[in-house]
Amino acid sequence: MKPKLFITRQLPGKAIDRLKEYYDVEVWPQYPPPPRDVLLSKARKVDALATLLTDKIDCKLISNAPRLRIIAQYAVGYDNIDVVCATKYGVYVTNTPGVLTETVADHTWALILAISRRILESDEYVRKGEWYRSGTGWHPMMMLGYDVHGKTLGIIGLGRIGSAVARRAKGFNMKILYYDHRRKPELEKELGAEYVPLETLLREADIVSLHVPLTKETYHMIGEKELKLMKKTAFLINTARGAVVDTNALVKALKEGWIAGAALDVHEQEPLPPNHPLYELKNVILTPHTGSASWETRIKMANMVAENLIAFAKGEIPPNLVNKEVVNIRKPGFK
Ligand code: NAP
Repeated sequence: MKPKLFITRQLPGKAIDRLKEYYDVEVWPQYPPPPRDVLLSKARKVDALATLLTDKIDCKLISNAPRLRIIAQYAVGYDNIDVVCATKYGVYVTNTPGVLTETVADHTWALILAISRRILESDEYVRKGEWYRSGTGWHPMMMLGYDVHGKTLGIIGLGRIGSAVARRAKGFNMKILYYDHRRKPELEKELGAEYVPLETLLREADIVSLHVPLTKETYHMIGEKELKLMKKTAFLINTARGAVVDTNALVKALKEGWIAGAALDVHEQEPLPPNHPLYELKNVILTPHTGSASWETRIKMANMVAENLIAFAKGEIPPNLVNKEVVNIRKPGFK
């Protein structure tokens, strides 16, 4: 009998077909995620789970899943999974690093340019007929934004995505500052990036872009104190995780003009609920956590999930194992 695999959402491409050779596969057929009770009951009966960042995989779920051997996450971030608990129970956790790096960096740059040059506001102005009605035609003061080229980019978290964002900044002739909990001398050389303390980065950067994972240390890393250090003309870009920023403090900063604007792909609460104060602000751009949302990348991510699960089913260590120490607790495979 094949091991049982529950996939919490339909995945693009042919990954699920590939998995059927090795697993008895069940896929949650709907767009909204499986409710908590469904997820708990599925987890109790399967040998493997393929999960999304919206699925809460906590210790309650893991400790009540006696057959569960592997959780294959369809994302590079895995803050929704209690990895320490998974390791304790000998459950392998995998993710999809690398394949989405360039796509998220592209999205970050789309946000940098759109917020700095007021692209969405301008589109609305034209589309709603306000430009026509204004009768101004071309006007020296219309929709003024800020230059991006030649400015200072501050990267917080110079990992895969942070580096890819910095690499693109070279074409814009930007000065690159970075802060990370570990210095990256090789990258400093390659990117011409200068390591500075967080406070210096916040004071000097014209664009602050967040690329750290969400952990206990990075939770609300950007709050009132940090936003007050930023230039009044600076922009905050978040394509990392919503909770890296204290949203209440950010709303205050945007309303009171401590910073010029923000572009957010990720949010403390997803989906962002109706009547959220961010909706009323012109100096913010919001995207629905679509940093990696290109056809090419989402198919590659699905294939990576399949490769991790197939390797495990063959008794091999999955290529993208997060909790490497789990191999000391249990051998890979279902035997
Ligand atoms: P990564 O390569 O691991 O980069 C993260 C960087 O942050 C590393 O340089 C890491 O340093 C550093 N870091 C970790 N903890 C830190 C701390 N407390 N203070 C300062 N720096 C810290 O990961 P990635 O592939 O670039 O992805 C980064 C994050 O982007 C993911 O965790 C995920 O949350 C988010 N993401 C979002 C989307 C989206 O759709 N918007 C898509 C993909 C990823 P060390 O490596 O030395 O620990």
